[in-house]
Amino acid sequence: MAKNSITQMSQTGMDIDLEALRARYRDERDRRIRKEGIGQYVEASGDFGKYLEDPDADAVPPRDPLNDRVEVLIVGAGWSGMLAAARMRQAGIDDIRILDNGADFGGTWYWNRYPGVQCDIESYLYLPLLEETGYVPKEKYSYGKEIREHARRVGAHFGLYERAVFRTQLEELRWNEGDGYWDVSTNRGDRFQAKFVLMSCGSLNRPKLPGIPGILDFKGKSFHTSRWDYDYTGGDTTGNLDKLADKTVAVIGTGATGVQCTPYIADFARHLYIVQRTPVVVEPRGNRPTDPEWAKSLGPGWQERRRANFYALVSGIPQDVDLVQDGWTRIMKIVGGTLFKVQQSSEKTPEQLKLDMEIADAQKMNEVRARIDTVVQSREVAEALKPWFRFFCKRPTFNDRYLALFNRPNVTLLDTKGQGVERITEKGLVVSGKEYDVDCIVFATGFEVGTEYTRRAAVELYGRGGVSLTSHWADDYRTLHGVTSNGFPNLFFMGPTQGPGDVNFLYPAEVQAKYIANILKAAKQRQADIVEPTYKAVQSYVDHFREVALQNLDFQRECTPSYYNNEGAPSAYKGFLTQRYGGGLAKYRELVETWQTEGMDGMQFVRR
Ligand code: NDP
Repeated sequence: MAKNSITQMSQTGMDIDLEALRARYRDERDRRIRKEGIGQYVEASGDFGKYLEDPDADAVPPRDPLNDRVEVLIVGAGWSGMLAAARMRQAGIDDIRILDNGADFGGTWYWNRYPGVQCDIESYLYLPLLEETGYVPKEKYSYGKEIREHARRVGAHFGLYERAVFRTQLEELRWNEGDGYWDVSTNRGDRFQAKFVLMSCGSLNRPKLPGIPGILDFKGKSFHTSRWDYDYTGGDTTGNLDKLADKTVAVIGTGATGVQCTPYIADFARHLYIVQRTPVVVEPRGNRPTDPEWAKSLGPGWQERRRANFYALVSGIPQDVDLVQDGWTRIMKIVGGTLFKVQQSSEKTPEQLKLDMEIADAQKMNEVRARIDTVVQSREVAEALKPWFRFFCKRPTFNDRYLALFNRPNVTLLDTKGQGVERITEKGLVVSGKEYDVDCIVFATGFEVGTEYTRRAAVELYGRGGVSLTSHWADDYRTLHGVTSNGFPNLFFMGPTQGPGDVNFLYPAEVQAKYIANILKAAKQRQADIVEPTYKAVQSYVDHFREVALQNLDFQRECTPSYYNNEGAPSAYKGFLTQRYGGGLAKYRELVETWQTEGMDGMQFVRR
């Protein structure tokens, strides 16, 4: 096999010894595997609770507790919750309350206000409800500021502000059998009831911190990127961090967030240490302003057509044209396409297709590594920045400034060679036995994945018979279409609970938002008070979900640790990749749309 693969590589003009590459990848992975797995991270609670606090929290306005009843409670004012609310309003459901811990709409984009925050999916695809609100983004890739402004636009357009309760944390959700309502309690003293509850809490929402010894000893300033403290740094999401002029800053983490914020820190800080455990893939961004003539030419249905085209291409379904032409469509055509073909019928055997994919991946990763040599002047630093894993082991990043940072005199790469920061002291951090004094540590260390759903949602839910959702889902999610669960009537989920996935998180959210609005509409038409899937319907979906699950545990095992593979211990049940519908969004969509038009078999609509 190795010989065969080397020959094929040579035909492309690129000499790659596949066996040697595999050995290198394994070696790099093994250096990074930690026996604690996801246990290496500490929860942002207790002593670490300050890392969850909203830097804008001073402005919490007082209000009276709520003691009423609403038809629908939406938990989470991010894009999923907003999309669901918009679709509900279009379906004639108006008695909605949206609850969020933040002070405004936006979810991810409310919390992630770090400098340089930008969406890595094209804005014309990503930003929802563009046609409904008559807005065309200013650039191909929107920055956080524009995304938050659009969230406000959608909030105003669909009358969501008057239905929103911000700065409020759920404490408990308990099904009240006698009343046929959910009892809702919050940290603001609210004790109200909701007939239906939608959990739309996001999938990368709960900041995680590295369990580095001494982390609490640090006497300087520290915060997580999703709680950026502009009082300390000066400036705003667009930069101008002038208060850092006399500060030495360390950023721990080089994922999508670290790559986006470090150029802005380097512009102002006296010195910046970028602390790397694993280098990430950095692809060119190629942002550009929107052509006004193009914007004027867009006809009705343009966004859905663009999304469908993008989705097809990233799923390996050939299209006559590539409307988006970006890093995602290019790479998925090369590497991702073969991934899907492995599951589809083809004249090639699965082994041949896997080999094709590995070769395409090796070529792409060679290109990624070669580009670093063309940008970074120091050979030693360039070598340290090279990622040694398969392309889809980690989410790639897209940035035109990050690599060039390492040519600046005020930026130093602290490469921990896969080991992470050794220790944090009162004055700074220790890497490979050497202490570096810093004024500020920024944790760009990502978000919890693989922990209990209720921990990430920061609330426990009790269904029929007082059964907690944590215990109900202890071994695995049990849902119908990732949206409902038996034993938990009138409760809906959006997001990472056996639902569909896509590199653009919002396209699946759109499908689920319409689905949930349709169920509520059907409940109204049937004058039903209780909506709940049967045990049989849930079991049948769970069986189907397993059947179509991406058979890629072997691939995940070979990967360097990350949240994609449960930090090196991939699980067939939980984890970022395995909790998503393996048949792809197109198949999921067909499944749920057919199910809806054919009468929603297995969903009980009961009148009390
Ligand atoms: P990630 O989980 O991707 O990255 C965390 C980083 O912290 C990694 O580099 C990790 O290293 C490092 N780290 C963890 N522990 C230690 C330690 N003890 N010592 C040193 N380094 C450590 O988080 P991000 O916030 O960057 O991104 C999360 C996700 O959010 C992205 O993958 C993406 O899906 C989404 N996102 C999307 C954006 C967009 O444009 N749409 C923008 C930003 C984020 P290691 O790799 O070794 O684990």
